[in-house]
Order: sequence, then structure tokens, then C-alpha cells
Amino acid sequence: MKFVVIGAGITGLAAAHRAVELARERSVELELTLVEARDRLGGTIATERADGFLVEAGPDSFLSEKPWALALCRRLGVEHRLVRTDDRFRKVFVWRAGRLHALPDGFQLLAPTRLGPFIRSGLFSWPGKLRMALDLVKPRGTSDDESLGAFVRRRLGREALERVAQPLVAGIYTADPDELSLTATMPRFSELERRERSIILALWRANRRAPQAGTSGARWSLFVTFQNGMQEIVTALASRLPPGSVLLKHRVDGIERDGRGWRVAGGLGTALEADHVVVAAESYTASRIMRYVDPALATLLGEIPYASSATVSVGVRRADVPHPLEGFGFVVPRTERRAVFACTFSSVKYPGRAPEGHVLLRCFVGGALNERVLESDDRALIDTARDELRDALGITAEPVLTRVARWTKAMPQYHVGHGGRVETIERCVAALPGLHLAGGAYRGVGIADCVRSGEAAAERVFGVAPTSHDADRA
Ligand SMILES: Cc1cc2nc3c(=O)[nH]c(=O)nc-3n(C[C@H](O)[C@H](O)[C@H](O)COP(=O)(O)OP(=O)(O)OC[C@H]3O[C@@H](n4cnc5c(N)ncnc54)[C@H](O)[C@@H]3O)c2cc1C
Repeated sequence: MKFVVIGAGITGLAAAHRAVELARERSVELELTLVEARDRLGGTIATERADGFLVEAGPDSFLSEKPWALALCRRLGVEHRLVRTDDRFRKVFVWRAGRLHALPDGFQLLAPTRLGPFIRSGLFSWPGKLRMALDLVKPRGTSDDESLGAFVRRRLGREALERVAQPLVAGIYTADPDELSLTATMPRFSELERRERSIILALWRANRRAPQAGTSGARWSLFVTFQNGMQEIVTALASRLPPGSVLLKHRVDGIERDGRGWRVAGGLGTALEADHVVVAAESYTASRIMRYVDPALATLLGEIPYASSATVSVGVRRADVPHPLEGFGFVVPRTERRAVFACTFSSVKYPGRAPEGHVLLRCFVGGALNERVLESDDRALIDTARDELRDALGITAEPVLTRVARWTKAMPQYHVGHGGRVETIERCVAALPGLHLAGGAYRGVGIADCVRSGEAAAERVFGVAPTSHDADRA
């Protein structure tokens, strides 16, 4: 079987690796080619070691609650390389009115689940707290797919949106909550409202049934990473692919029908022939390379918006940081009009990220709400991050390390209507035998979702029923 995968981010690597596994299990002769435009594997995953620091340019961890990435680590034999977050410092701060406020204990993304810490918190005003409590008596909404912003405003009020939901969501999706589809990004909350009406009561009851500890068992925290950074999963996957199957620095320009199979062309010298093609590049790239295959499908793919952002990593001496840094980091509401929208205390969250006596802080700038800041050059972005770290944490000393990583159009935005669009896209693709789409643009933006999406594409090729296999991997 001639099998071509376009794009060697985590999705494409997972698809290629799963095809190798299934071909071996079923004694199918597999001729695999993984085509990547860049000169390296991993896509948005990129880890650098410099002066004793371990700097993640892109993702720094994955969610262990969604089983697919963890299950892949087990099959790759790298589970022992995983490290968990230091949960003594699980706290997250919110930057508001000139200082950092701890998010009250028990606050679950959108709503409080513990009364005492919520009442004592200085993050919300009294009218704001009372408005949140109105969730207890408010009736259900009627909309099929509303924005996350509209949902939080309706149930919990403007303050809950502005001071918590917006900055936390920006930290995850680099997105505008007034555009984001609730059902495509956080279906759990619309489900809770549908089932139990009040979000606060529903979360409170759920907590009483299953105390929060990460649902993957005591062994792993909610987020996990590798001792030597996220690049480890890329290296492990690459080592399982057949020699000579990876083509780097080859940008695919187009795909066309070729008898019962496909031809993959562009920057490849001669075109590749394939029985099956998995397109695991960004959806706007998928749109371009599939424009002659199905123009209507290409239009739908091109309509999925993406946001750009940058990470600015700053290494400093511990003695130069007046703040105790007892937390995983802070988020910044848009109403504060700052350039940094989130900051991770990387060396507090995970071990081995900074040399003895130093800390590593990673700031995020840009995102859907402030892409213009990315017009600045790297020097200016570093200066901006340093200004804001001075205001938030009191750091005035020269850093010992700085790194800027820019991610242009790297984060898909699931706007209202996304679910319907993806269903139509999937129907169109199902009518094109041998062609498959995978990646963060469709049904989940995180690493775990991307692993599932890539593996599911390979499984469709081999006729594996997704549910049965998902169950044994979980
Ligand atoms: C700054 C940042 C931080 C993040 N943090 C986290 C996190 O902590 N945890 C988490 O779970 N997720 C995180 N994410 C999201 C996660 O990193 C991505 O969703 C995931 O890595 C996407 O993987 P992918 O393979 O689908 O896409 P990509 O990684 O974008 O890979 C697509 C690949 O396709 C290649 N390509 C494009 N066009 C062509 C072409 N024409 N021909 C050949 N190849 C092509 C690209 O070069 C690229 O290598 C973060 C994202 C960003 C940007």
C-alpha cells in the first residue's frame, strides 16, 4: 500500500506511526512517505536546550485526561520519560488592577465550586459575586450553539467573563470568547446546563461524586510533559518510522486524482503516487492543495480562521525575582490592556527547566485579540515582556537568557458554527476514497486530540472501527 502523509507535526507523525503499527499487525506491505515543508519534524513542537535552560518554543505539555497521547507514550515505551506538574504550586494568578490575585481554590474554568475561597477572593467585587450566584436560579438557555462569551455573560455575568473566563480561554485557545463556539470548545458546559441547569450546582455535584485529582489515576497530574521536553515524543515517533520514509524541505503544492489513487505534487521532483493520502497540514494549507479536487470542500477548509501568537521565554536568576512564584503562572484579562496575555512559571511547573538558582518564565503575546503586537521585532517583544514581568513580579534585573518563538497562523479558532462546518467537511471527504484529513483544525486543538485525529485517519485506511480501538487504548 502506498501511503503518503502531508505534514510532520504531531498529527502527521501519529498518523504515520499508526499506519506502521497496523501494517505490521496485518502483514500489509506499506510504502510510507511523510512529507514535511520545514527542515525538521514536529511542527509546533520545538524544544531547545540553552545554557542549562530547557525552552519550549511551542506546547510545553499535554493533557493526560484525554487518553490518546498517554496511550501512545505507553506503546512507544516512553511513559517512564514523562514528568508531572509540581502540584504543590497548582495555583494560577490573575493580573488585575495592578496586582496578581490567586484564582480562588475550586474555581473550575468558568465557575466557583467552593464557597469559602470564592467569598474571600479579592478578584471579584461583591456585585460580581452576587451576579455569579444568580446562576443558581437562572433558567436554561435556548441556543443550539452560542459563543462562550455569551454563555458566561448569560449564566455568570460580565465579571466572571472579563476576569476569569476570557483570560483563561485566551491562555488555551489564544481566542476571542465572543467568537468561540461553546459546543466546539467546551461542550461539557453546555451539557451541564442542559442536564442540570445551574453550572455552579452541576460542578459542585460532580466534585462531590469524583474529587478532582486528574481522572487518569493518581499516577499522572492533569498536564504532563517529558524530562527533556516535548521534542521527546517527536524523536520517539520518528525512530519508529521506516528508514528513508521522511522527506523534509518538501512543500506539497497540490493533490490530484490519478486513476483509483492520488498524485501528490510540488517541490518533490517527481510527483508521489499514493493509494491513500492523509493531509495533516493546517486547514488553510489543506484548502490550497485540495482546490482542484473539490472546490466546495476547499472553500469550507479555507474558512476556518487561525490566530497568531509568540512565546517570549525569559531566564533570570532566582535572587532577582522578588515574587515567591508559588503557582504555575498568571493570565491577564483583556480589560487590563497589556501585551502579555499569559505567563507560565515554567521552572516551577516542571522540574529541570532552569539551572540551579535560576527560573524560566514564558510569556505569551498576540492571539486573536491582539495580533498587532506581533508586528514588533523580537527585541521589542522581549522589552515588552520584561516591562510586564517587572510590573507583575517586580523583576528589574537583566535576564540571563531570552528567546522569541513566533507562531503565525498556528492556532485554529473554533468559531460559532464550527461543529456544523466540520460535519460538512467530513461528509465531503468521505466522498473522496483514499483521501483523509487530520489535525487540530477539526475536533480538538490539543496534542492529545491531534494524536487521536492522526491515528484515526490511519485506522480508517486499515478499516479499524474507531470505537473499539479507542476503548483498548484508553
Ligand atoms: C504557542 C503554542 C503553545 C501550545 N501549547 C500547547 C500545550 O501546551 N498543550 C497542547 O496540548 N497543545 C498546545 N498547543 C497546540 C498544539 O501545539 C497543536 O495543536 C499541535 O501541535 C498541532 O499539531 P499538528 O500536527 O496538527 O499541526 P502542526 O504542528 O502545525 O504541523 C503541521 C505541519 O504541516 C507542515 N506543512 C504545512 N504545509 C505543508 C505543505 N504544503 N507541505 C508539507 N508540509 C506542510 C508544517 O510545516 C507543519 O510541520 C500550542 C500551540 C501553540 C502555537
